[in-house]
Amino acid sequence: MYIRKGYPKLIVDLNKLRHNTETVVSQCRTMGIQVTGVVKGCSGLIPCARAFSEAGVSALASSRLEQLVRIHESGIRTPLQLIRIPMLSEVADVVRYTDSSLNSELEVLRALNREALAQGKVHKVILMADCGDLREGCFSREELCAAALEVEREMKGLYLWGTGVNLGCYGSIQATPEKLMELVERTEEVECTIGRKVDVISGGSSTSYFRVLDGSIPERINMLRIGEAILTPAFMFREFGLPLKDMYSDVFTLQAEVIEVKNKPSYPVGEIGFDAFGHRPEYADRGIRRRALLGIGKCDYGDERELCTAEVGMEILGASSDHTILDVQEAEDAGRLVKVGDVLDLRLNYASLVYVSASENVHVEYV
Ligand SMILES: *Cc1c(COP(=O)(O)O)cnc(C)c1O
Repeated sequence: MYIRKGYPKLIVDLNKLRHNTETVVSQCRTMGIQVTGVVKGCSGLIPCARAFSEAGVSALASSRLEQLVRIHESGIRTPLQLIRIPMLSEVADVVRYTDSSLNSELEVLRALNREALAQGKVHKVILMADCGDLREGCFSREELCAAALEVEREMKGLYLWGTGVNLGCYGSIQATPEKLMELVERTEEVECTIGRKVDVISGGSSTSYFRVLDGSIPERINMLRIGEAILTPAFMFREFGLPLKDMYSDVFTLQAEVIEVKNKPSYPVGEIGFDAFGHRPEYADRGIRRRALLGIGKCDYGDERELCTAEVGMEILGASSDHTILDVQEAEDAGRLVKVGDVLDLRLNYASLVYVSASENVHVEYV
């Protein structure tokens, strides 16, 4: 098999990743919260999963079962959690390879129960409440309590470990203290129904971490599932108006090679129709400009608007599947001459990291 060694290259600083994870784990610990480290953002890369694990997360999680299987097979022994509702077609492997999963469908829970009994295991489940973000979860309180009661009474292969919520994904609903209290209240109704306390209340993802930082997270929330705030924290901290204290924004750096540098008009020449992806972008006419082409494109990172160059005086103008076009005029005016063969550093956010870490065209290097 041909394995790419050159560029594009994703540089992963494992010490910085470990450091970010430790910071989040210790902040959460002060509020009595355990951290489930979500590795789907970096496609479950094994050295990254190991760094999370060494930094003290209580579990490793992904929405993709195949990533968890790979982590299991790598010998990492941290408990694994599947955070996308299991497909009926994957329940056997969910029970075989993971310790717990998030759930919302009785039919799936019954199938998990049958599998767990067949494999002689007890699989832990977290029942999801939908508090308005409208992705997964039981929307009504009655449905949540009824599901909890059936798991508790009838499913000896499952252990009702607790409840959870997901926010800020589809409905863009914020993790306010009030929303999180709603989860606690729904959990207390579940506890009333089953006649005991549950062990965990899993209060959401990175957005809920900001309620830890401002001290407003309800006391009974004792688990968060965190990916973005550890992997690519810069954007989130800016959004929440907080300085990036004791965290690195550059755990990941994407490097791409310059394959062409020329002076060209900034406005396309001819009759304008559609671009490579069937859209009609706007083009600004800024006269003749110095432009550089990079040997990397949308297939590697998704949307070029999710990237930026590490150097000043360079602007990403656009991209097609395998090319990225930069305006480097200002950099050149300031004396930074860009040449064919140069390697440029690009900054990634969460949305682009998912693609880059999964792209077989991008060579991953750990430092
Ligand atoms: C992706 C995901 C998370 C982690 O979200 P981040 O924004 O990366 O912290 C947590 N829970 C569920 C259910 C998810 O799908």
